[in-house]
Amino acid sequence: MKLAQIYAQATRPVFSFEVFPPKTEIAYENLKQVLPQLVGLRPDFMTVTYGALGSTQERTLEIATSIHRQFQVETVCHLTCVGASRPQIDQVLDRIRQEGIHNLVALRGDPPQGQSSFVPVANGFAHANELVAHIRERERRLGLDPFGIGVAGYPEGHLESPDLATDLLHLKRKVDAGADMVVTQLFYDNRHFFRFEQAARAAGILVPIIPGLLPILSAKQILRITSLSRCEMPPDLLRELETAGDDPARAEAIGIRQTVQQAQELLGRGVPGIHFYVFNKATHLSRILQELRGSPQDQWHSQG
Ligand code: FAD
Repeated sequence: MKLAQIYAQATRPVFSFEVFPPKTEIAYENLKQVLPQLVGLRPDFMTVTYGALGSTQERTLEIATSIHRQFQVETVCHLTCVGASRPQIDQVLDRIRQEGIHNLVALRGDPPQGQSSFVPVANGFAHANELVAHIRERERRLGLDPFGIGVAGYPEGHLESPDLATDLLHLKRKVDAGADMVVTQLFYDNRHFFRFEQAARAAGILVPIIPGLLPILSAKQILRITSLSRCEMPPDLLRELETAGDDPARAEAIGIRQTVQQAQELLGRGVPGIHFYVFNKATHLSRILQELRGSPQDQWHSQG
C-alpha cells in the first residue's frame, strides 16, 4: 500500500519504525535477530535509511527487501542524492521498484565526511525537492506506477536554514513537487512540533505530518545526537538523565516513560501516527507500544 493510502485508510494511529543499515558484520547479524521482534510489534510500515556511501547503501535495499518479502510488512526505502548522478539515482529507483517496494523517503542527505557544505555531483541534485520532482517527472514520462513519497521536516529548523520560515518554504517546494507526507526530525519538546505543524498548515502544506520520535537508550548517545542537530532537550529531562549517569537500564527506563508521555500528548492532539527511530532495538519499543496501544489515545478514530 502507498503511504498516502496508509494514512487515509487508518482507523487508529499509524505506528512506523525506522531501522538503519549497520556498518559492521556483527551489528548486521544483530539486526537480523531483531527484525522478527520488530515485525512482531505489528508496525504499519517500516523504513530503512540510506547509508552515507558504499556498502551500507547496498544493505538498505537488502534489508528493505527482506522486511518486505520475508515478513510481508509494508516497507519504505530511504534514498539520498549524495554522490549520485541522475542515471545512478534512476538505477536505484528501478531496483527498488523491481523488489516490489512502493514507497520512498526522498532526501538530499548530509555532506560526506570532511565536507562542510553539500556539493551535488555532476548531473545530480542539489536539494530534495529536485529529487522528488525528478521521480514524478520520470514516472509520468515512462507511465510508471507512482511511488508513495515521504520527505523530511524539521520542527526546530534544519541546521543550514537561517530560520523556520525559510525552511518551511523549502518544505512546501518538496510537497508541491509531489511528496505525499512529511516525517519529522527527532524532537523532545512537543511545543516545537505543534508550532511547526501550525506554521506548515498556514504555509499551505496539507499532507500528513508525522512526528519522528527517538526513545532515549543512553544519556551519552542522546547528548551526542542532539548536539549534531538543532534539537533542544527540555531541562527537566536533561536533569533526570544526569541522574542515570552511565547506567543504560536507568536511561532506558527514563526514555520509555518520556516517549510514552510525548507520544500520548501528540496522539491526544490528533497526529495521524508516530514514526519511531528504533535504533535497531526492539525491547524498549515493545514496552512503549504496549502502553500506547492500551491508552485511550489509540482509539481516536473510533471515538470520532
Ligand atoms: P533538503 O530538503 O534539500 O534541505 C536541506 C537544506 O536546504 C535545508 O536547510 C533547506 O531549508 C534548504 N533547501 C531545501 N530546498 C532548497 C532549495 N530548493 N533551495 C535552497 N535551499 C533549499 N540522511 C541520510 O543520509 N540517509 C537517510 O536515510 C536519512 N533519512 C532521514 C529521514 C528523516 C525523517 C530525516 C528528518 C532526516 C534524514 N536524513 C537522512 C538526514 C538528512 O539527509 C539531512 O537532514 C540533510 O541535511 C537534509 O536532507 P533534506 O532531504 O531535508 O534536504
